[in-house]
Amino acid sequence: MDCLFCKIVSGDIPATVLYEDDDVIAFEDIMPQAPTHFLVIPKRHISTLNDLTDEDASVVGKLQITAAKIAKQKGISEAGYRVAMNCNEMGGQTVYHIHMHVLGGRAMTWPPG
Ligand code: AMP
Ligand code: ZN
Repeated sequence: MDCLFCKIVSGDIPATVLYEDDDVIAFEDIMPQAPTHFLVIPKRHISTLNDLTDEDASVVGKLQITAAKIAKQKGISEAGYRVAMNCNEMGGQTVYHIHMHVLGGRAMTWPPG
């Protein structure tokens, strides 16, 4: 499959991996938009949030729980951080394998641009 994040899962493209288990992998974003910016993705390819089914509930929950655990390890939990998932063009999605952004280490603004 010609998917950038599937290639990170398979190890064909290198990444700074923060956490990995059978279901999810977390790695540093290559173009960080904040002092802390990492991504958490399911290992199984899912193109967009629109493709989720009821069977994906546990892995999607695991994305969020993994994000929170890593945020704590990185020391951004107490100050606070932003979690975002972009869907399709208007949502700002550029890589079509779902991923949770976790950004911290600076004050976030709302609404996002
Ligand atoms: P999105 O625009 O929501 O699809 O986010 C895609 C994210 O993937 C962006 O923040 C990119 O900086 C990030 N990204 C693209 N290529 C890589 C890569 N090889 N390793 C890590 N992060 C990447
Ligand atoms: Zn993929």
